[in-house]
Amino acid sequence: MTQKILLLPGDGIGPEITAEAEKLLTVLRDRHGLDVSWTSAPIGGAGYDAAGHPLPPATLEAAKAADAILLAAVGGPQYDNLPRELRPERGLLGIRAALGLFSNLRPALLYPELADASSLKPELVANLDILIVRELTGGIYFGKRQTGVETDYKVGSHVVPSARVARDTEAYSDFEIARIARTAFEAARLRGKKLCSVDKNNVLESSQLWREVVIEVSKDYPDVALSHMLVDNAAMQLVRAPKQFDVVVTSNMFGDILSDIAAQLTGSIGMLPSASLNERGQGMYEPSHGSAPDIAGKGIANPLAMLLSVAMMLRYTLARSDLADKIEAAVRKVLASGLRTGDIAKPGEATVGTVAMGDAVIAALG
Ligand code: NAD
Repeated sequence: MTQKILLLPGDGIGPEITAEAEKLLTVLRDRHGLDVSWTSAPIGGAGYDAAGHPLPPATLEAAKAADAILLAAVGGPQYDNLPRELRPERGLLGIRAALGLFSNLRPALLYPELADASSLKPELVANLDILIVRELTGGIYFGKRQTGVETDYKVGSHVVPSARVARDTEAYSDFEIARIARTAFEAARLRGKKLCSVDKNNVLESSQLWREVVIEVSKDYPDVALSHMLVDNAAMQLVRAPKQFDVVVTSNMFGDILSDIAAQLTGSIGMLPSASLNERGQGMYEPSHGSAPDIAGKGIANPLAMLLSVAMMLRYTLARSDLADKIEAAVRKVLASGLRTGDIAKPGEATVGTVAMGDAVIAALG
């Protein structure tokens, strides 16, 4: 059956990199037997401009009806003063909530040719290939909140008679932990079969449950080697010896922080795709970078994170890992041939624009 893709170009460089993704999809459909159709809809600032809302109702309906969503990026300075509920990022959050996209997959992959771009020594990061699986709809960002004045508030052995206090709650159910653990074990099976679960089990009740449930789920995946690490150590290990990791699974807040550390190890945000999935395997795929308003409309944006997002979509929703492998191999070939957009070029190196980079990847597909 033909699978439906929704393209959400969004703002800034979004339309330019989406055009490259559309070119790639056309070639995969026409020459490589990919059975897909696609439509486009406005989101973010573009949604606000077109329909007065960052997630117009028609866009939300199209998202619900799609098998996979490919989002470029949202946001721009012209929207910074809108009220919070009309700001571009509300479009993204609205789709995540409506589709129940509870798992966020963020690979950090460093091609050896770009090892100089990392802030770590090239030998520590060359050929780095890790995947952070972050729980996306639970934990402290969604737990009960409370702000108010409390009397007799205890600070160690002190008692403050009256204090303004803000509370956020980290809460996880076994159901939420088990489903994100399953996503991570499945992902590990598709890769190096090593999973590290990161928690703060020595301090937090929620982490103790996390660890217990991950161990329970691991019984269904005897082929995947499971280890556990405390989050403070994981942050340190990521910058000390990042290649020890294959797949990392963790909670919403820990994943937020660790995935940014992992992204920075690669030194090139224009290269990193990401995926957010729900239980039905429906997913939203997007580059990890933003809308880059500083270079929008100039034809110089790096389209590779977007094209690699197409590869993730093929692997995790459209069940065409063969084509995902082809795209990733094409990107490697293009980088090995020396082609660079400005963001990944060394000083003085010749650069190409968005369209030339997209064309080169398509030509390298074979
Ligand atoms: P950004 O990622 O857009 O840009 C940071 C820097 O990286 C800029 O110098 C930019 O030119 C460069 N860059 C980013 N992607 C690039 C690419 N593909 N090719 C070449 N260079 C690239 O982050 P920012 O400047 O903090 O945010 C800009 C806007 O994007 C803001 O409105 C922000 O809210 C939004 N944003 C959106 C998302 C998203 O849609 N998921 C994520 C982050 C930021």
